[in-house]
Amino acid sequence: MSGAGGTGGAGGTGAVRPSLVIVGAGPRGTGLLERIAANAPELYAGSGLDVHLVDPYPPGGGRIWREEQPPLLWMNSQAQDVTMFTDDTVDMAGPVREGPTLHEWAELDGRHFADRQRQGAYMRWVYERTVAALPPGIRVRHHPHRAVRVGGPREGRQQVWLEGVPRPLLADLVVLALGHLDAELDSEQRELAAYARAHDLVHLPPDFTADSDLSALGAGEPVLVRGFGLAFVDLMVLLTEGRGGRYETDADGGLTYRASGREPVLYVGSRRGVPYHSKIGYDWTGERPPLPRFFGPGEVDELLARPGGFDFRRDVWPLVEKELGLAHYHRLFAAHPDRTAMPWTDFERRYEKCAAVDDAGGTGGTDGAGGTGGAELRALVAAAVPDPADRLDLAALDHPLDGVRHPSYDTLQDGLRAYIEGDLARRHDPAHSPDLAVFLGLLSVYGQLVRLGDIGPWWHGFFSYLASGPPGPRLRQMLALSRAGVLNFLGAGMTVTAADGVFRATTTTVPDEYVEARALVEARLPHPTVERTRDTLLRELYAEGAAATPEGLLAVDPADGRVLDRSGAPHPRRFALGPHTDARGSGAFTRPRTGGPAFRQNDATARAALAFLRDLSCRATAA
Ligand SMILES: Cc1cc2nc3c(=O)[nH]c(=O)nc-3n(C[C@H](O)[C@H](O)[C@H](O)COP(=O)(O)OP(=O)(O)OC[C@H]3O[C@@H](n4cnc5c(N)ncnc54)[C@H](O)[C@@H]3O)c2cc1C
Repeated sequence: MSGAGGTGGAGGTGAVRPSLVIVGAGPRGTGLLERIAANAPELYAGSGLDVHLVDPYPPGGGRIWREEQPPLLWMNSQAQDVTMFTDDTVDMAGPVREGPTLHEWAELDGRHFADRQRQGAYMRWVYERTVAALPPGIRVRHHPHRAVRVGGPREGRQQVWLEGVPRPLLADLVVLALGHLDAELDSEQRELAAYARAHDLVHLPPDFTADSDLSALGAGEPVLVRGFGLAFVDLMVLLTEGRGGRYETDADGGLTYRASGREPVLYVGSRRGVPYHSKIGYDWTGERPPLPRFFGPGEVDELLARPGGFDFRRDVWPLVEKELGLAHYHRLFAAHPDRTAMPWTDFERRYEKCAAVDDAGGTGGTDGAGGTGGAELRALVAAAVPDPADRLDLAALDHPLDGVRHPSYDTLQDGLRAYIEGDLARRHDPAHSPDLAVFLGLLSVYGQLVRLGDIGPWWHGFFSYLASGPPGPRLRQMLALSRAGVLNFLGAGMTVTAADGVFRATTTTVPDEYVEARALVEARLPHPTVERTRDTLLRELYAEGAAATPEGLLAVDPADGRVLDRSGAPHPRRFALGPHTDARGSGAFTRPRTGGPAFRQNDATARAALAFLRDLSCRATAA
């Protein structure tokens, strides 16, 4: 039985049935439930179980994927790359239960970027199918509330307090699948917000754009926007098509934007000053790069075994760079031998022997992709690949506007449109298929980095910028908005100051000019930590002794997701899954047949939970 909503009975007094409370009913909470359904026949025959799902948003999609959101917002994954179902590539103890990917379920073209509403409908269907697949005796009930606190003795039943409900839910086990959380403002944001209040300006801090109130951004008003990633794309869409603008397709296939007159005028800049690279618009053909080669399980084992630990920049990045280089050159030599000047076998043998860093040390600074390998490696590449445009230069990719200067914002607009047009053309042209090989390399590296735990935020930003940018049509819209004057580019190294009653933006790309506005939007997701999250439940858990990484992620036991305390001991009755934890590989939907670490984690947690509950009910029966 699946109870839909309602809070009655949350007190649980006199409850004798074993009880599991899952806080958070988004993709991870739903995925966990799917694994409970899959594993229960083997591990939990018998005495009934109440599963309480706590989430103010509908189970399945949860907050991020709720069906009730503007249809203009798209997913950033192709429909064929999204599945909620396991396959035989997942390294897990539980049984595989196959099911359709998003594109199979929704009967979409696999390359289509579905809107988030559609993904929400898929998630709801997955949830309903999962509940229906639970063995008799396991009952699910949704409580549409926020959980505000978890209490209870370490060895005894836990209490989960819900907002507005006087008595707690009693739980033999609690799983926290809290996902993406809101954050308190940091000191810079607090100062900007205070300035805005004092001077009657508009300041929108980092937020989930679908949840932001954008009504304060008036028609025709200049708005400074800091951030050029996916949150910007959402903002751009809501403030243009979302306000009645529309696109017309020209005879040459280009887009023209027809404004509604209700749009503000956007001025966007960021650290890099450019949007994320376009999604690649063609499929892989031919032999895949032989990965992993320089950064595989052996290298990760070696890093983990180092007595003094490892440093990402010094010890990991050179291996990553060499791995991505291998992917790139393997493809270049295989698909475009005419653009190379030596046989692949010679190149490969010499590449293998090259040191990944100069003898003098490091690969660059602490912020950015650093250099391009050691001197020997650079010399080899120069000899083997005549055209510099065919060489992989991660530092240049990471900082495309380094050294670019414009006398005025006017001249920058043409320059940036040309950059975006170039990126779109390149990412849709198989003549540049080494780019797709690097993408495969990034996925391989990501899979290995999962085991290293907390490696700091830089890598994730770099990965998103190269491998998880907007769909091509979004960049075409960006160009049309730029031509229509609704969107203006500011460049790289953007800083914002608040002075003279306005916000003022400057960039290193146009050093002699600045732009002023009465509105500022920080177009990026909040960056919560266990200390700065607005989620009181998590903050309190941390205050009471749960361990966290330096990055502010909740530390969990990699074996089964049990929450660790600061002595490293796992809590017997509390688990956590998802992006607020240090279990890596939690940040996106799983692509089919990629061994998804999130599936492995869900399975391990489900099995540990079911085994614990089974033993508990056996003990209760024996007593
Ligand atoms: C805007 C956005 C777009 C994304 N787009 C893509 C994409 O296109 N492709 C892709 O692969 N990945 C994408 N991702 C990443 C991926 O979808 C998310 O990682 C996924 O949503 C994670 O699922 P989750 O269940 O861990 O977290 P969430 O989706 O955040 O779900 C967590 C749930 O927990 C609930 N919750 C939190 N705290 C409490 C509490 N105290 N009490 C009760 N309930 C609580 C929330 O209401 C929420 O419903 C995107 C992420 C974001 C933020």
